Order: sequence, then C-alpha cells, then structure tokens
Amino acid sequence: MPTNPYAWIEESLTTIHRADWYRSVQTIHGLPGATVLLEGREVINFASNDYLGLAGDQRLIAAATIATQELGTGSTGSRLLSGHREIHRELERAIASLKQTEDALVFSSGYLANLGAITAIVGKRDLILSDQYNHSSLKNGAILSGATIVEYPHCDVEALRIKLSQQRQNYRRCLIITDSVFSMDGDLCPLPALLEIADEFSCMLLIDEAHATGVLGKTGAGCVEHFGCTGRQLIQIGTLSKALGSLGGYVAGSTTIIDFLRNRAPTWIYTTALSPADVAAALTAIKIVQQEPQRRVQLWQNVAQLKQVMQQQLPKLKLLPSSSPILCFELSSAADALKAGQHLKSAGIFAPAIRPPTVPTSRIRICIMATHELTHIEKLVEALSSI
Ligand SMILES: *Cc1c(COP(=O)(O)O)cnc(C)c1O
Repeated sequence: MPTNPYAWIEESLTTIHRADWYRSVQTIHGLPGATVLLEGREVINFASNDYLGLAGDQRLIAAATIATQELGTGSTGSRLLSGHREIHRELERAIASLKQTEDALVFSSGYLANLGAITAIVGKRDLILSDQYNHSSLKNGAILSGATIVEYPHCDVEALRIKLSQQRQNYRRCLIITDSVFSMDGDLCPLPALLEIADEFSCMLLIDEAHATGVLGKTGAGCVEHFGCTGRQLIQIGTLSKALGSLGGYVAGSTTIIDFLRNRAPTWIYTTALSPADVAAALTAIKIVQQEPQRRVQLWQNVAQLKQVMQQQLPKLKLLPSSSPILCFELSSAADALKAGQHLKSAGIFAPAIRPPTVPTSRIRICIMATHELTHIEKLVEALSSI
C-alpha cells in the first residue's frame, strides 16, 4: 500500500499549532500610517517598518502614479535585457549619494540583494562569519554561497576574533556578515570594532542597513554614518521597503564591487527589474530623507519619549537593549506573547508577538514612527501597563 506522500504536511502543521508557533495573516485596509484599519477596526500602528511615515505620503503616491502613466506597470524584463530605464540608474545614483559610496545597485528586494551579493563574492573555498541573530536573508545567502559558515555569539567581538584567529588561514576569502540594526531586537552591531577586525584578518565586511537607512545618522545614511565610518571599505545592503516606503533592495559600495555584481549576482541578473512605480516612489523618498531631517528628529524624539515613560511607569517590563526605533520586551513563552499581542489588539494597539523560530525568545515588538503623536504613545503605555 503506497502511503500518501503529502500526509506529513498536515502532521507538521499540527505540531506547529501545538507549539503556539502557527502564523496567519491579518488584513490591513486603507493607507498605511500611524493609525490603520486592522480587520475593520482602527488601531494605533506599532507594527510597521514605515519609520518616517512615507509609505502613505501623497508625494510618493504622485511620483508612482506619474511613473506608471509614463512608463507602464511592469518593467518587462531583467535589467540586462529590456527592463532597464533611466530612473533605475537615477535611483542608484541617489542611493550612492545618500550613502556617500561610489556606486549602488538596485535589486527587486532587500532579501534578493543579500542573496545576490553574498553568493557572488564568496564560494566553496571561503569562510563566512555570521552574527547569530542575523536576518534570514543573510543566513540563507550564506548557505546558498556554499562557503563554510561559522556563527559567532550576538555582537561578541572577542568571540569573533578568536574564531578568526583559529580558522582564517584555512580559507581563501573571508566575509563577515551582520545586520546593522538587528531587526527583532533593535540593538546595533559594533561596527567600528568589526571594521578593525576585518582589517586585521583581511576580511570583507557586509552590513545590512535595512532598518537603519533613513533612520540612523545625521543625514539618514544609516548605521555607517551613525558610527562615523562613512567612506570606509565595506559592502552595504539595504531595502527600499522600510523607511523609504517603497519596494526593492540595494547594494552600495565601490565602483568595482558594483560592476562585479552586475556581472555575477544571479538574483540581479535573472530577475525582472523593479517596476517604474516602485523606483519613482523610492527616488522621491530619498529626496525627502535628505530634505526633511525634521522627520528623523521627530522619530528620535518619539523613541526617547516612549523609553522615558516606560521606564517611569513600567519599570518591571523586560525591555531588550535597543538603540533604534525598535523596542522589544520579552515574555516567558510563545503562548504568553500571543496573549499579550491579543490583549494589546483589543486595547486598540497593533504590536505583534514575535516567536520562535524567528527569535530565540518570545517577545512583543514595538516599532516607533515619526508620525506617532504623543497620545498614541500614551495609549500604548496604558495598554502595556494592563498586561
Ligand atoms: C526587512 C529586512 C530585509 C529584507 O528586505 P526586503 O526588501 O523586505 O526583502 C533584509 N534584511 C533585514 C535585516 C531586514 O530587516
């Protein structure tokens, strides 16, 4: 009797349910913003990566609309075939100018930028050192590259140094990969120390600025600018889909590395170019990031405000260390985190539970936006205090 080869899927789903790891989508209606309609009900939105409130900005919407009318909905092909338009290059120049790098290359998502860059620059004979808490796209890029992967404990520079001194000499090239703002924790990588170690052991360094672009640094260039490391040799990855309110990803770096990636990054060469609407929206967002620093100032004021009120009114909450608009507090189990998330939702607060396997410990994750108002923050604290 042949057994049903798909039967395991249902069993697997049952196991996922039992562990309180089951996930499903929730529908948002209308424009994104500091408040949104979640399943028909208005909630204050602490779940969004739209840090500067640009995803619903009329200027981005107008730019995307005009680009669609003038250039069409689809780009019709990969960049090397029929998909390359003048605005793609214009966007790449704008990213390079924001980042103060020689050049940049736009991918269809941040995830694909990581897969493409990592697989292009290291292979079987090489070594990757990866922070334990890195984003899935860095981890899977590392696996796909075929290089030997060694994880180091989160942000532990000494452990990284020891691993490199033991193993570096056995490999051809070496690449250190790290988030800049850790997406599920909110803390920052120790960039100056990482650059120093990269120099010492002759390693390349790739940093993922997904949550830092538009958010950190005086001009919004990211963590690299925040730490005063602008102009140093490294490979920067980012996304157009968080503070920049659009869709897509990028690599920023030297002319040489970008030229190389155009020739060797499979997730750039063999996929359709971004649509004109995505490109135009991102281009407008970068201009706003550069011309309206007050948005970033407001964002950081909101972060400081929330931290202050939380410390005063909720001293028992277990906040994870954070230097970004991402604030997480830990709960003892996935079930508790789910309950807390539900409780917040019924109090009109959208702040989701993040559970294993995404993170090692369950937590509620709060993302602050520049467009949150004081009353939003007060309502959040009030809801948190009743958990
Ligand atoms: C969101 C995120 C990505 C993926 O970016 P997309 O453009 O959404 O694919 C990559 N790395 C990190 C650290 C992220 O937080």
